[in-house]
Amino acid sequence: MSRQLMLLGTGTSQGVPIIGCDCEICVSTDPADKRLRTSALYSENGVNILIDVGPDTRQQLLRAGISHLDAIILTHEHNDHIIGLDEIRPFNHRQKKAMPIYALKRVFDELSKRFNYVFDPEPYPGAPKIEVHEIKPYERFEIKGVSIMPLLIMHGDLPILGFRFENISYITDAKIIPTKSLELVKNTPHLVLNALHHVPHNMHLNLIEALDLVKVINPGKTYLTHMSHKMGLSKVIQPQLPDDVELGRDGLLIIC
Ligand SMILES: [Zn+2]
Ligand SMILES: [Zn+2]
Ligand SMILES: [Zn+2]
Repeated sequence: MSRQLMLLGTGTSQGVPIIGCDCEICVSTDPADKRLRTSALYSENGVNILIDVGPDTRQQLLRAGISHLDAIILTHEHNDHIIGLDEIRPFNHRQKKAMPIYALKRVFDELSKRFNYVFDPEPYPGAPKIEVHEIKPYERFEIKGVSIMPLLIMHGDLPILGFRFENISYITDAKIIPTKSLELVKNTPHLVLNALHHVPHNMHLNLIEALDLVKVINPGKTYLTHMSHKMGLSKVIQPQLPDDVELGRDGLLIIC
């Protein structure tokens, strides 16, 4: 049994560096300070599942050398998590089938507005082809034998999804993790969790809040994601974190 999760992007919605920003982090030459928009690839026994399909999807999948995708699961409909949907076309062509997408009904409603041509009953020949699978929090589902528990997560007032796989839990864009979801991820061997920066934010956990949740969840190892340039330089922040908490970095492979 082989299981792994690769962090494809660990940056917040504008990415790091931010266009035109000359702060110390945005001009850093350390690869650990370069963050594409948050996304990950979970693989179990050769089944490849992409988590979110943001604006950097093409670059991320090329960089990771991904030639095969079995499905896409979506956390929520913000553009930094879905606006790369058009990039699935090479997989449609090579795999000769529609791409299965798993998401909340509300997310599909939003996708149909932003990508109306994908949902057209008579799409033009080159349009991306998707297969709609609506999922709900706490209703376990399977993709080619990979079992996934969708978790309710509160992103400010917006209910979104996190995902618990066998040995790793993936939570991004959280502000509050409801009790039932906390119970389902408690003692998870690996945890990916968002931490935006240091000051409070109404939609996202900041670093202190994320570290407090890590104490409650008690994972074996935690990787932080969805970071802004205000998190600070990786080489400065990493030594200040507990031993079992790592700043995520683009391309990081977690064997789980
Ligand atoms: Zn986001
Ligand atoms: Zn900056
Ligand atoms: Zn969001």
